[in-house]
Amino acid sequence: MNLNSSIENLKVLTKPQIAALKKLGLNTARELLLYFPRRYLDFSKVATIRDLRPGENVSLKVTVKNISKRFSFRGRISLAEALVSDQSGSLKIIWFNQGYVADQISKGDEIFLAGSPEYYKNQLQLTNPLYEKVSDFPLHTARLVPVYRLPEKVYPKTFRRAIAAALPLTDELSDDLSADIIQRQNLLSLAQTVKLSHFPQTEEDAKQAKRRLAFEEIFYNQLLAQQYKLKLAKQQSFAIKFDQNLIKTSLSHLPFELTPGQKRAAWDILQDLEKPRPMNRLLEGDVGSGKTLVALIATLETESAGLQAVLLAPTEILANQHYQTIHKVLCRPPVNFNTRCALFTRNFCLLNNKTLERKKLGQLMAEGMPGLYVGTHALLEEKIKFKKLALVVIDEQHRFGVRQRAKLIQTKGKIPHLLSLSATPIPRTLQLAFYGELDISQIKQKPAGRKPIITKLVDAQNRNQAYNFIGNQIKAGWQAFVITPLIEESDKLGVKAAKTEVENLKKIFPNLSIGLMHGKLRGTEKDAVMKDFLDNKIQILVSTSVVEVGVDVPNASVMLIEGADRFGLAQLHQFRGRVGRAEHQSYCLLFSDNQNPETLQRLEAFTKTTDGFELAELDLKLRGFGDIYGQSQSGWNFKYFDQTYISLIEPARQEALDILQADLELDNYPGLKEKLTGKTVHFE
Ligand code: ADP
Ligand code: MG
Repeated sequence: MNLNSSIENLKVLTKPQIAALKKLGLNTARELLLYFPRRYLDFSKVATIRDLRPGENVSLKVTVKNISKRFSFRGRISLAEALVSDQSGSLKIIWFNQGYVADQISKGDEIFLAGSPEYYKNQLQLTNPLYEKVSDFPLHTARLVPVYRLPEKVYPKTFRRAIAAALPLTDELSDDLSADIIQRQNLLSLAQTVKLSHFPQTEEDAKQAKRRLAFEEIFYNQLLAQQYKLKLAKQQSFAIKFDQNLIKTSLSHLPFELTPGQKRAAWDILQDLEKPRPMNRLLEGDVGSGKTLVALIATLETESAGLQAVLLAPTEILANQHYQTIHKVLCRPPVNFNTRCALFTRNFCLLNNKTLERKKLGQLMAEGMPGLYVGTHALLEEKIKFKKLALVVIDEQHRFGVRQRAKLIQTKGKIPHLLSLSATPIPRTLQLAFYGELDISQIKQKPAGRKPIITKLVDAQNRNQAYNFIGNQIKAGWQAFVITPLIEESDKLGVKAAKTEVENLKKIFPNLSIGLMHGKLRGTEKDAVMKDFLDNKIQILVSTSVVEVGVDVPNASVMLIEGADRFGLAQLHQFRGRVGRAEHQSYCLLFSDNQNPETLQRLEAFTKTTDGFELAELDLKLRGFGDIYGQSQSGWNFKYFDQTYISLIEPARQEALDILQADLELDNYPGLKEKLTGKTVHFE
């Protein structure tokens, strides 16, 4: 038996159990040992029968006085009944549905029991306790008992026995963390971690084991992120000279000044662009903070340096909007009429507002015509060639940035600069964990003159009043969004809830046009709905949360959110950001059936602050980040690392950097290298 032996060799598991575990990826003893418990049941207190208290989790060490099996409830349920005793007294035990216990334990046996006693007919009784014969190393009782996520066929007791059978192999495990790191960071070795995680003696043991696993996770995360960053720094890109005059004149006719945050971000970006190595920057700012303009400044510099810039939007409508903005803002005579600006989406192919044959535009791109090319992500699937691509801006889809940049790298030897725009505020404390490979600029203020959105948590009894209010807003010419949450498991996209809501609203507002937006619509259908909303052909748009409502509809003044308790604050904030995009007063109305005081407190907090970063921090405190920045946000599937380990991020980053600075490819660390293969920075 060794670590590579199949789990069959443990001689604990049945064939179907082995098959079920293999499906989980647990093929070998090593894999089994590295499958850690999710939590523990605390049965470490061993009491005497006399001291038993109802409702308390305890273990007992007792002798079986008698035990028998019988059938109850017209013979349909088998049960085992026993009388057990210790020096302090005796106690009745019942195992419902587990008559077989009577075959495994006999009169006179010394056993451990673990459970929580309850009164039954005025007498304390232990029902369905865990049990095992007394030994020096109990697995299921008289200890912190590990609980695993297991397939149905594999009983917890069986699994614990399998782990215990593999446990002697633990010392053969090689540790991918060096002894130095382990010592410096005060970590358990891998072998200790395995032993103490599965069968801790104390809570502190379990905590230390988890700390080591969390460190490892964040360490690999940092290793990957920093490796990417260092490798990128060795690549070449076009250095784009900072042309201050150009910026000044281009912005001079804008009816407003840049906010300090916009200036700062533009400065960061323009500095990056001047360097001959690729920028990798995230521009974070609330919806409406004016990220687009900052991005446009960068693209403008690129174009005027005789190079090509691409601005990618997630939807055709957004691409269109960006293109219009560019025309309004930057290509207006007499300022800079020569700016070449193209729109290329499935349905449009324009160059400076003139329709062009797709083939022709493709040709111009390939020939290296300097320009500002606005398009959708979808277009990357087509084989577009740029000769002098110097900058890629990706709007609202930062997660996919790298892959898309990779697709666009066609300029021999040169990697384009990358700028991602995102409205998702990430708590400062977690930025390194999620975006370690990126430089970050933040815009924290909104342009002056915006009225804060009035946010109200509405009581159920005031629902009609809310509808009256919406009716009046619409009479005054404005429009409204209604967001519906996912309600049923089976209805993964929430389509049903949204459809029901449309019917509901049609009854309340028989004279209005009510639109429906959900994730099952095709791209073109979504675009058509959005276009109608934009043109005020739809007055109320009902949408699932699945759909990004990333479009600027300045005429919308109300955002109503159903089931608000089901959303994180950051997400609610995103929804809220869809209104209040112009000068008029906007409103966000929350409904929630959940009367849980904590939930209400959370939602009340949301009504009181309009700062996305503050809300993100609050969300983190209240819910932990698993819920908020799970797989989908970060692309990192952290299993052990969570907000309790934030203080490990910086040391992990330092350790990663120390290694990488001497050995970027990790050639001397085959174990680490293997860990990272197949993984990419969070974008994929
Ligand atoms: P987002 O950051 O959500 O992408 P946008 O770039 O779409 O925000 O900007 C929202 C609106 O604010 C646009 O209509 C834009 O023209 C306007 N805007 C941008 N910067 C300023 C500013 N400094 N002062 C006033 N309005 C601005
Ligand atoms: Mg935007």
